[in-house]
Amino acid sequence: MKAVVFKGIKEVEVIDTPDPTLLAPTDAIVKMESAAICGSDMHVYHGREAGIDVNTTMGHEFVGTVVEAGSEVRSYKLGDNVISPFTTSCGVCFYCRSGLTARCEQSELYGWVEEGKGLEGVHAEYVRVPLADGTLAHKPDNLSWEQANLLSDIFPTGYFCASMADIRPDYTYAVVGCGPVGLMAIISAFMQGATKVYALDRIPFRLEKAASFGAIPVNIDEEDALEAIRSATEGRGADAVLEAVGSKPTMESSFRLLRPGGILASVGVQAYDQLPFLPPELYDKNVTIKAGRCSARHYMEQLFPLMDKLPYDITEVITGTFSLQDGKEAYRVFDEDKDRSLKVLLKP
Ligand code: NAD
Ligand code: ZN
Ligand code: ZN
Repeated sequence: MKAVVFKGIKEVEVIDTPDPTLLAPTDAIVKMESAAICGSDMHVYHGREAGIDVNTTMGHEFVGTVVEAGSEVRSYKLGDNVISPFTTSCGVCFYCRSGLTARCEQSELYGWVEEGKGLEGVHAEYVRVPLADGTLAHKPDNLSWEQANLLSDIFPTGYFCASMADIRPDYTYAVVGCGPVGLMAIISAFMQGATKVYALDRIPFRLEKAASFGAIPVNIDEEDALEAIRSATEGRGADAVLEAVGSKPTMESSFRLLRPGGILASVGVQAYDQLPFLPPELYDKNVTIKAGRCSARHYMEQLFPLMDKLPYDITEVITGTFSLQDGKEAYRVFDEDKDRSLKVLLKP
């Protein structure tokens, strides 16, 4: 089969590699129908996180059709259309039962093989899914493959980010970063009852998208974001900031934008060593910080019944679709063309 594999910093390649096989009776093999490139793939692509092995298949967001199921898989059969969250989960451990599927005791992240151990990614024609009963969800018939693909990570992640921010209609929110994740956080904040959401970025195309989803755009290179938000809140600052970038500068600006007693809800993957604010500053501001990996398996379940009544068409963030064969170019576009592209999909 074809797969997009990691070769080195800013280098992926499409290669022919053997089809995956069942390694445990709880595994399933899923034929990929749609897979997406994510900002999180960029942490690997740019080598900002500890390196994965060369030739690891990239990617973690996908949907597809079951083509093989192990003897202990009970909930899925051949031909079933499924959504996979970006991490696997058993469905029965303490964390899975409490909705923290991202921290399942047996959780693995797709596209992460280090020193020979780990799980191959999903930017391939076929994917081995461990713990299929706990990991997979049936794709609701009313969803297109594209909508379903956004439920494998970024929509649940945006929704989780907004949930952490404790949304209220009378509060003022700021979303830092208007990439696909930040845009999903904006839509989710409105779904959860927000009425005033500022959107910060420096790329006009992305800010326009944020505005089309109802947010008030602030170009951080042209406007003083702190001033804009303070003047909207009688000088206090944002009631909560939704951080969707994962960098030291954005964690710092998110902290500064908050009012005393505010919530910093961060879903950006943090790949640096120290927080850019000091313990006394935390104390002096009574800030609550919530962060982490989204339990996509848990949140997609909450989103299924809402998909017919979304305030916006979430697939508007999909700006490009490439065949797997053109995976290298798809990665280049996602990485370099941020001024005119957002979410990029791969099709077999
Ligand atoms: P992206 O790179 O497409 O978007 C990031 C955006 O942030 C860009 O538009 C960029 O211009 C903007 N930005 C950069 N610096 C900024 C600054 N100082 N102020 C304001 N905006 C700034 O990425 P994405 O796909 O939207 O993902 C965003 C983050 O979410 C990544 O760190 C990704 O790894 C993470 N993520 C986390 C989870 C989770 O489970 N927590 C899931 C998916 C993605
Ligand atoms: Zn992702
Ligand atoms: Zn579990």
